[in-house]
Amino acid sequence: MTPSIDANSASPNVEARSGANLEAVSAAKTAARTELSALRPSLVELADSLAQNPELGFEEHRSAQMVRVLLEDFGFVGSAIDGLPTAFRMEAGTGPLTIAMLCEYDALPELGHACGHNLIAAIGVGAGVALRRALDASDTPLTSEDTTPQESRQATSGTASGALGDARVVVIGTPAEEGGGGKIHLLDAGIFDDVDLALMAHPAGMDLLTMPSLAVAILEIDTFGRAAHAAAQPQAGINALDALIGGFQAVAMLRQHVPDGVRLHGIITNGGTAANVVPDHCSARFMVRTPHMTELAGLVEKVENCFRCAARAVGANAEIRIDGKPYAEIRRWGQLETWYRSNMRELGRQLTPIADVAGVMVGSTDMGNVTQVIPGLHPMIGIGNPSLNIHTAAFAEQTQTEAAYDAIIDAASALAMTAIDFLADPGAAGHQTTTSSSGKE
Ligand SMILES: [Zn+2]
Ligand SMILES: [Zn+2]
Repeated sequence: MTPSIDANSASPNVEARSGANLEAVSAAKTAARTELSALRPSLVELADSLAQNPELGFEEHRSAQMVRVLLEDFGFVGSAIDGLPTAFRMEAGTGPLTIAMLCEYDALPELGHACGHNLIAAIGVGAGVALRRALDASDTPLTSEDTTPQESRQATSGTASGALGDARVVVIGTPAEEGGGGKIHLLDAGIFDDVDLALMAHPAGMDLLTMPSLAVAILEIDTFGRAAHAAAQPQAGINALDALIGGFQAVAMLRQHVPDGVRLHGIITNGGTAANVVPDHCSARFMVRTPHMTELAGLVEKVENCFRCAARAVGANAEIRIDGKPYAEIRRWGQLETWYRSNMRELGRQLTPIADVAGVMVGSTDMGNVTQVIPGLHPMIGIGNPSLNIHTAAFAEQTQTEAAYDAIIDAASALAMTAIDFLADPGAAGHQTTTSSSGKE
């Protein structure tokens, strides 16, 4: 169940939180930023290489390999995931908590890296490596002296530096975000089971705290009738295209009785083969989106009824299946957002209020499913041109500019710094959650 929105419960005063050793936190953040400056050439090279060799979801073999090899160079160890060869989990260090930085690297047909996942991969690697190195360099616990020696020993058993607040840092390669739901497969496979915090950042026109997001299910619809000569023997035919068109019209009527924010849209992918033949088989692909995952099953059922009943009306049959697993909306974790906003400000970047883009920018991501079960963030990082939209050729070009390279470093810094805030006060992150809901900040 999704928690209700409770904006008043957020505690924006980071400095006042108990348990954190603010001096150690500040030193660790500075160390992470210094590391990222040094990592810049490697991260830019990775992002450019991915941009120049785009691969589609579940086919990102070279891309995943490139990211893994770089992580190995930086001391991370791990492997591909059984059954998902373009996914991986690489890790370094150990500690009582596990921080995951997520990489995407799938591209779009014909447009290449028009969603900027080449940058997401570089940000994930940069954030993971910088966090690991900052923790290694820290000889002071991130938490205050309130912690008892016994707790300290328990928490640090097996750590390299011995500093309370040390962590296992994992970088997870998550394939096929553009429709394949790689993260959902990885959740099902247990790859996130030990993860306490999952972070990633997505390129965009501007800096945003999150992506206004919708839950989505994709329907594949096939209608079956009976072929006949459309002029000579129309009475012998059952029109599978009419069945589909009737379904689209029924959805158009349904549209006025759905909650605000719902999106219902689709295309006919097979409308028959010849105008003088009554089509006996037609197909459509249809998307059902809603701000709340809890409403999705009910909406899908209504849309299915539109197509089934329209098919029956003309004597045809409709077969409907859900393509893949539905994406959930992003669940928003208030304290993590507060830390991220503060860190972005420290980096000199000002977040655009979500309300300013509500209704203009909205999307769906399998990161939504991750944030439903694990504290996490999916902020958007501006890559130098606020007027650009993702999924355009211009956006793909923009990912190979100095502004995009700056965005890699700033986003990776902000994620590493937010992870440090979390390690200094892990109990705080589980509280003060808000629901996703597009436009509510
Ligand atoms: Zn995309
Ligand atoms: Zn994307």
